[in-house]
Amino acid sequence: MSSTDAYFSSPLHLPFNSSCLQKHFQPGTPDQEPGGAGYWVLLRGSELLLQQHADGVQLPYGMRSPDWPLLVGELSIGIWQDAPCRLLNWPENIPLAEGLVPCQLRDWGTSLPIELLSLGGLANQIWHWESNSRFCSRCGGPMLRLPREWGKRCEACAAVHFPHIHPCAITLVRRPGEVLLTRKAEWPDGHYSLVAGFVNFGECLEEAAVREIAEETGVRVNNLRYVGSQCWPFPTQLMAGFIADYAGGELVVDYGELADARWFSVDALPLMPPRRSISRYILDHYLHM
Ligand SMILES: [Zn+2]
Repeated sequence: MSSTDAYFSSPLHLPFNSSCLQKHFQPGTPDQEPGGAGYWVLLRGSELLLQQHADGVQLPYGMRSPDWPLLVGELSIGIWQDAPCRLLNWPENIPLAEGLVPCQLRDWGTSLPIELLSLGGLANQIWHWESNSRFCSRCGGPMLRLPREWGKRCEACAAVHFPHIHPCAITLVRRPGEVLLTRKAEWPDGHYSLVAGFVNFGECLEEAAVREIAEETGVRVNNLRYVGSQCWPFPTQLMAGFIADYAGGELVVDYGELADARWFSVDALPLMPPRRSISRYILDHYLHM
């Protein structure tokens, strides 16, 4: 398995993008449940519950343990390393079974291998959809999964619903010798990253990138160029990464959204986002103008 602290040569290989899982995982849907012993992706909130072995943490393997909560049904999500792979959501109010170790998927300093991190992220995204699609958002009727899909059809009004994915634009703004970085209050102390935000109604990605920079920092940009994208399954974002050049405007921080925003010299950067994120990928590849 590969380390999340690796240097990534392409955004395609960033954690959470499905190419990280290709060698190990074949996606499937619950109606393709193959039966028999298999691997378990146990989620508790945004923690992945793993089993500690002498050579590190691994997905629990076997039949469903009688020690696990009965309340929650399991979902077949595909084949992991040639065995059935099932997702089970562990209720937060139920103590952990012996031998299970919680690993936070959102931890900036995670040491989970990319493959387990990406599988946990995928499971988080699937579970978010499952728990938010029990009833039809149009009429409140019960929903049934479509064959070989995660999409569902309402049994009452026949409306069809598919998993929701939310596009975001994330941009590195540069001017000679400096980059514009921002920080949010909930990030680890001293860490900065790129300007980012969700796409609004009626916007393309490029328009969202330019608007978010203007709204959060007061800065105008030009020469916006697309770099690549990353699935960000916490719970449903798709991050589209850009670089842009400073074109004017004084820095005015929107403290409703941000704890800080500053121009940093490329020779005196603050603590950076983790290597597993597209923000760090862009910084590693496009820091210098
Ligand atoms: Zn309905």
